[in-house]
Amino acid sequence: MLQRQLFSCSKASMRAISRPMMASSLKSAFTQRSISTSSLIYQEVKKTEPIVKSNPVPTPPIAKTTPKKKGAGFWRWTFRITMLSTIAGWSALTYLVWKETNPADQLPQTELKPNGNKRKKIVIVGSGWGAMSFLQKLDTTQYNVVIVSPRNYFLFTPLLPSVPTGTIDQKSICDPVRLIARQTPGEVQYMEAAVTDIDPEAKKVYIEHKSDRLTIGDAFINDGEPIRAELDYDYLIYSVGAKVNTFGIQGIPEYASYLKEAQDAVAVRQKLFNSVEAARLLPEGSDERKRLMTFVVCGGGPTGVELAAEVKDYIVQDLSKFIPNLEKEMNVTLIEALPNVLNMFHHKLIEYTQQVFNSQGVHLRTNTMVKKVDARNVYCTEKKADGTTEDHVIPYGTLVWAGGNAQRKITTDLAAKIPEQTSRRGLLVDEYQKLYGVEDVYALVVQA
Ligand SMILES: Cc1cc2nc3c(=O)[nH]c(=O)nc-3n(C[C@H](O)[C@H](O)[C@H](O)COP(=O)(O)OP(=O)(O)OC[C@H]3O[C@@H](n4cnc5c(N)ncnc54)[C@H](O)[C@@H]3O)c2cc1C
Repeated sequence: MLQRQLFSCSKASMRAISRPMMASSLKSAFTQRSISTSSLIYQEVKKTEPIVKSNPVPTPPIAKTTPKKKGAGFWRWTFRITMLSTIAGWSALTYLVWKETNPADQLPQTELKPNGNKRKKIVIVGSGWGAMSFLQKLDTTQYNVVIVSPRNYFLFTPLLPSVPTGTIDQKSICDPVRLIARQTPGEVQYMEAAVTDIDPEAKKVYIEHKSDRLTIGDAFINDGEPIRAELDYDYLIYSVGAKVNTFGIQGIPEYASYLKEAQDAVAVRQKLFNSVEAARLLPEGSDERKRLMTFVVCGGGPTGVELAAEVKDYIVQDLSKFIPNLEKEMNVTLIEALPNVLNMFHHKLIEYTQQVFNSQGVHLRTNTMVKKVDARNVYCTEKKADGTTEDHVIPYGTLVWAGGNAQRKITTDLAAKIPEQTSRRGLLVDEYQKLYGVEDVYALVVQA
């Protein structure tokens, strides 16, 4: 059958070839015919003969590709993002440092504005939170601004409790006033001096500069004869803050340290380390060694609580790595006159703080009033739940007083000049922070 078909096919092909056709069309017809013929043959073979599987042609081996490791993409992208962030971070930092050291030109101070009006003068007293926050919001191109403060830097107080332990360096939380003043668009002058008197009627402030004695024999010593000057103002921004209140307790000014200014924190640090190093020369278990190893904080407000916690953490987590067993010997005690620490805060925070102190081993002495201190001991009286009292003597190596704040003398002097200032707790201001009873004097961050 197959032969017959093959024969008929070839006969048909021969007939087709013998027809008179154009060469090209003949060729194409032949090709078409051949194709259709061969496909016919193929179909027939398929129908009639079983497909005999011959040896399969060996397939070339597929080139081995290294399998992708799981998570490789994640790490590649993490690396790229880290690199990009590092480069971006360094660039931003470099730019900020450059900008700080190359500040743009400031509009100089002038008597008159370009429109001929008087350019008013603002005197800012102080270089703390109130003063610097005000300066940041002020359009310094509109006024002649002068800052007067004996402290030539702004102090970032929330981080001050970390300075005695060395967790933060003192310099990192101090920003020079001149640097801040130089960053503003209009010129801001700074005078390192304390305001000694204010005349709100004449709109004048009296200022005084006292240099600290650096070494014996300094050529320039004016602490005996301070340099004085006076300044006129159109507006006065009064922001001198508060001073430490010792409540007249005997021995506090002589023997206790404070935690109010940067140099206070440095002094606490020195006392803490001196006490620890001196104690280690003494026999273990001796009373003197125990005394020197006692760090006492008086005052359970935010400053006292933060300091006690910082010191305890530092001893347990850091110092004990270098001085073994120090955490067992060192004693941190917090004394508070009221029944709780952090009395001005929510009771949950108070409870939490007391729990943490108990678990960390900070000795909390609440309801305990400090009566007197001397070079070695704190004398205090504890008020018991039944109303009775008990006296205690607590030996200390380092003592920090964080018992509260009081108005500065300059503030009480100013209030005394103004009949409308009737509060004994601080200056009275209206809703614009303007002082009651005088024009153009504004007080910032005052006790109410
Ligand atoms: C350890 C510590 C931690 C704190 N933590 C926090 C916190 O986490 N959150 C918070 O909200 N508050 C905190 N505070 C409180 C906060 O620091 C004060 O509320 C804030 O400093 C008050 O700002 P101020 O501008 O009134 O005074 P200050 O910031 O004290 O500034 C007073 C400025 O006036 C200057 N001055 C003083 N006398 C004169 C004078 N006669 N003439 C000219 N200038 C004068 C001083 O040198 C100083 O520059 C903390 C305080 C301390 C001490």
